[in-house]
Amino acid sequence: MYRLNDNQRRQLRELLTTLVGIKSVVASREQANRDRAEEGMAAFLTDHLTKMGMTINRHEVHPGRCNLMACWPGQGTSGKSLMLEAHMDTVPVEGMTVDPFAAEIRDGRMYGRGTCDTKGSMAAFLTALAIAREEDALPADQIWFVSSIGEETCCEGAYALMTTPFRTDAAIVGEPTRCEVVTAHKGPLWVSVETHGRACHASMPDHGVNAIDLMARVIQFVHGPWREHISRGEHPLLGRSTTAVTTIEGGTKINILPAHCRVQVDNRLIPGEPMEKVFDNFRRMLAGHLGDERLFTVTGLTSSGQLDTPPDTPVVRRLLDVCRRAQGKAQPQGVNYFADTGPFSEAGIASVLFGPGDIAQAHTADEFIELEQLYLATEIMLTLLTENAGKSIVD
Ligand SMILES: [Zn+2]
Repeated sequence: MYRLNDNQRRQLRELLTTLVGIKSVVASREQANRDRAEEGMAAFLTDHLTKMGMTINRHEVHPGRCNLMACWPGQGTSGKSLMLEAHMDTVPVEGMTVDPFAAEIRDGRMYGRGTCDTKGSMAAFLTALAIAREEDALPADQIWFVSSIGEETCCEGAYALMTTPFRTDAAIVGEPTRCEVVTAHKGPLWVSVETHGRACHASMPDHGVNAIDLMARVIQFVHGPWREHISRGEHPLLGRSTTAVTTIEGGTKINILPAHCRVQVDNRLIPGEPMEKVFDNFRRMLAGHLGDERLFTVTGLTSSGQLDTPPDTPVVRRLLDVCRRAQGKAQPQGVNYFADTGPFSEAGIASVLFGPGDIAQAHTADEFIELEQLYLATEIMLTLLTENAGKSIVD
């Protein structure tokens, strides 16, 4: 195992402190476009990667919001490629009980927005790459460092990148996995359902059609037959698909029979059926349940691909092997959240999630990362890179 010395650990902490100090909050697509949310991060990374000797390609997704793809030109002789990826954006900072940008270190932890999700991973990857390059111990694969925008709004940057010709053979995507290798996650399918009633005075309810009454039957469908339908399959690492009605609004006034009611439904699907097919099934089965498809409209809000990378994929096998030596044990893991691995995997890139910190601390009011996790992730990445110097990791 590669071990970081005190000086390297200090530089790693300083790098993460700098990254956390750069605000890159994404609350919504509109806000992020207006604020050019990742511009500061992209500027810092451009400078930092240039100092590492890398050449940077910018992929503009929205004005002032660019994915960055960096490599050392001419490096890599295997004809294969590996990307280390970490998103630039963070969730908002409202309600935080620690200074979001101060990166205060206390009791072996660094506190701040993004320490855990996912600037910790970014600092670990950048540090590992820089040291491996300094020691002239890079693998024979072309190595890319990629940083995306808008991950927190459903992997927007990664999806946009996959509409370009940019591809690698494999990807290690930085997310707080406690330095475990995550090979599977579910994909979200978010839909909204609106019921169409007919308003009338509430004193004569028989003269109208009550949209809330209709919605009660929709909810009964989602939590009944629909739940039963989508939970029939089981994945060894992920269990079953789930569904839940999560928002509701309807009605205008206490004495008016409501003409409209709307709910949002969060489906989390295990790998298997294509999203479009699941969506069609939802609409078809709901029409059957209500007996009339004119009573409602279903709208797809967003969806993101699942991850299900075979554990015997070379990059997975090698990463698991290093993790096993570092931590005594390592098994492929499944998680319930989704990440840039969704779009990458859909585009045919063999992808895994790996990074320091615990997802339980992501998005929280006192987000932090344990420094030991940060060091460990960096040492694991360094070991993976340097012990495969001159060889392929992905083949
Ligand atoms: Zn993340």
